[in-house]
Formats: sequence, structure tokens, C-alpha cells
Amino acid sequence: MYNVMSSHAEDFINNEEILETLKYAEENKHNEKLITEIIEKAKLRKGLSHREAMVLLDCDIEEKNQEIYALAKQIKLDFYGNRIVMFAPLYLSNYCVNGCEYCPYHAKNKHIARKKLSQEEIRKEVIALQDMGHKRLALEAGEDPVNNPIEYILESIKTIYSIKHKNGAIRRVNVNIAATTVENYRKLKEAGIGTYILFQETYNKEQYEKLHPTGPKSDYNYHTEAMDRAMDGGIDDVGIGVLFGLNLYRYDFVGLLMHAEHLEQAKGCGPHTISVPRLRRADDIDPDVFDNGITDEMFEKIVACIRVAVPYTGMIISTRESKETREKVLEMGVSQISGGSRTSVGGYVEEEPEEENSAQFDVSDNRTLDEVVGWLIDLGYVPSFCTACYREGRTGDRFMSLLKSGQIQNCCHPNALMTLNEYLDDYASDKVKAAGKKMIEAELEKIPNPKVKETAKKYINSIDAGERDFRF
Ligand code: SAM
Repeated sequence: MYNVMSSHAEDFINNEEILETLKYAEENKHNEKLITEIIEKAKLRKGLSHREAMVLLDCDIEEKNQEIYALAKQIKLDFYGNRIVMFAPLYLSNYCVNGCEYCPYHAKNKHIARKKLSQEEIRKEVIALQDMGHKRLALEAGEDPVNNPIEYILESIKTIYSIKHKNGAIRRVNVNIAATTVENYRKLKEAGIGTYILFQETYNKEQYEKLHPTGPKSDYNYHTEAMDRAMDGGIDDVGIGVLFGLNLYRYDFVGLLMHAEHLEQAKGCGPHTISVPRLRRADDIDPDVFDNGITDEMFEKIVACIRVAVPYTGMIISTRESKETREKVLEMGVSQISGGSRTSVGGYVEEEPEEENSAQFDVSDNRTLDEVVGWLIDLGYVPSFCTACYREGRTGDRFMSLLKSGQIQNCCHPNALMTLNEYLDDYASDKVKAAGKKMIEAELEKIPNPKVKETAKKYINSIDAGERDFRF
């Protein structure tokens, strides 16, 4: 039975409730009165229930859809301003014992080159990432208790935080590893991770079991309840997501929002981020085999509806998407993007020869970080390398209440400008540096609080003089 407070996967992601929601949305997709009421509710910026959000996703009244897009853009601006947080994935190991049908790491794939970075190789990768200008990483690894035990992940995190190369530093390490125990989540928390990220892939149990026939990941309940355990282990920033293209997107859209509702109500804090990856071609993987792909238009609508349904949750998009798609969804709600990414193990230090492909999937956006930063500035976004919140203890419900009250703006905007200034001074090309400096000057003037404005200007001058790591 549907029970948002229950700690059992099949209660908080309840199949009957999802099916009834889908039926309700289908019946109401031209119900102008109801859709107008839901849009009015969304305008209060307090979020929507999964049922309400699903009606908006199904809505087929063009004029109302335009209202949804306009509202998503406005909510994005209100909560996140014009800032976009930058990150890069770091693939530690592609050894994996699971049988995920869509992932080239699956254990039966004998032709992918299996690699695991040593601590020395991690140092080299991190130096290459620091030299690009990155400050925030998402660690990625396959699930393999022998090759990639938790001790390996913990040691790698320690190595990453310890590397100080020129003015570089990785200041926030997010972790995307397989579902694990409360005890291991506690160890990750103690190692100082930022967000723990785990994609559900699909919320549909039957489909999930077909797509994950073997290995520990085949246990739907254990996987679905992972965020509860992570929070019980003290991690209060968790990132959820589904891999769009595996199941019917309507089912997964509802599941995703039910998961967010569950975490908010049962654990006191909703997810810190929602990722919206789409299935990509990869070694041994042909995305056309999965017949549930979604069009770019539907993908944009999903992003817009997530934005209005959970206004206070960050949204992440990776280089799985092209420059064109990224541009559209940035407007509609995405607040974090990766840049200059390599999805192969060891890929930042050297390009792999074709026959040694260890990559997880093909990247659609192949631009360098500098190109991505320059592109964002040209579009009017402030690329932010900020990592201040969790370092200042602004995590979990503390972060959420600051965000919901709008007070976070006093920290985020100046922090974005200061970290962009560090990037420009240390890593940018002349062209990007010139455009970025101009942007910083104009954006500083927009800070409403005179004291914050004055301090931010002082810090920016100190950065230009060679000092680093100022933050509000
Ligand atoms: N092994 C961990 C797990 O199972 O959750 C770490 C995740 S894996 C390195 C990161 C994510 O990549 C997966 O959760 C999946 O959603 C995504 N992924 C796997 N194969 C993909 C593909 N062919 N195209 C796009 N994304 C893919």
C-alpha cells in the first residue's frame, strides 16, 4: 500500500499509486481548469505533488505548455539566478560484477578494456583536472567488492583531497558508487564527501529486474532504499536520477517525484540534486535496442516539469547531451553541468587508443572546459566553481531552508563570481578571461546588499593579487 513514510521501497514507490497517477493524468490532460489550478499552485514555489506534476507532463494544451515553460524559467531564475555550477566526472575503475543490460561495464562484456586507477594514477588524473580548472568532482566506479572495495574508494577520496598543485584544489568530491550499507555510507561521510549520487535507472520493479539480471544491483529493494540508508549513515546531501530511455518515461517521472517526496517527508530533507541522464551508445550497447527513447522535446518538458515540481532541488546534466540540448535545458531548470568530461578510466591524462576503450558511454559534448565556460558566459550565465556550502556546513535541511527563504542568494552569487574569477586568473584563455572579467564587473554591481557587495569586491581584488579560496 502507498505510504510515503514507510522505509520499504514498495510502499513509497508504490506501483498501484503510480498506475493510478498515470491514469489520472491521462484523463486530465486536456482539463484546462485543473491544469490552470496546478500552474497557479506551482507559482507559489512550494512544489507540486507527483500527481499534479504528472498532469502537467501529460498536458496537451499548447498554450498551457508555454505557461509551464515560462514558469520553469522564472523559478530557475528565482532560485538559482544565472549561475551554473561546474563539475567533472572522474572514473576510478570499470571493474564490475553486475549484469546491467544498458551499461558497457556489465560483467559479461569481455571486450571492454578493464582498468582501475592506482593512487599514483589518480594523482595524475586529478592534476590534469586541476589544470583544467575543476574544483568539484563526481567519482564514478563499477561495483566490484574485490577490485573496488569501499577501502579503495575511501583511499582515493583522501588522495584527491590531498593534492595541491599550483593554485588548484579539488574542494568537493561527490560520489556515484553502487548502493551500500549504512556503515559504508558513514565512512563516506567521514571521508568528507559532498553529495552521494545514485541513479535508480528505472523505478519500475519488473523492468528493473529484467535490466539487472545478475549481481548485487539486481536487488530492487536494496537499490531503491539506498538513499534512506545513506541518510541514516549521516549523508544529508543525496542525488537521485533515472536513466531515461530504459523504461516508459511517464512511470519513471512519477517514481522520481515519489522518491523525492519520500526523502523529504520520512528523512526531513528532499534530494539535493536530480540528474536526468539519457541512454547513450557505448561499447557493447546499442541504445536503439531499448525502444523507450524520448524525444528532445519530451526531454525538455520533463526538465521543466521537474523544475516546477521541486523548485529547490538542483538539477544536473552531463556531456551525454549535446551543446544544443544543454542550452535548452539550462534555461528550463538545469543548475549544474559537467565540462571537458572523459568517461574512460584514466582519460584525462591520455587519450585512449581505439582498441583500449574503457569508456562508459559516448560523450555528445566534446568541448573543453574553457570552451564550455566561454559559451556559458556568452549566453549570460555565470559559471560557478563554488563548493562553499558543504564546507560551511550548509547541507541537508540547513541548505534547503536557506534556499527556500531566498537567503542563500547572499552567499551563492558572490561565491560564484569569486570562484569564476579564480578560474579566469588561473586557467582561462585570453578570450574567455576578457569576457568573464567584464561579466564579473557587471554582476558585482547587481548584488543588492551593500556590505556583501563591498566585501565581494575586496575579495576579488585579493584573488587578482594571488590569494585564493574566499567564500561567504
Ligand atoms: N556502479 C554504480 C551504480 O551502479 O550505480 C555507479 C554508476 S555508473 C558509473 C553511473 C551511471 O551511468 C549509471 O547509474 C547509469 O545510469 C549510467 N549509465 C550506464 N550506462 C549508460 C549508457 N550506456 N548511457 C548513458 N548512461 C549510462
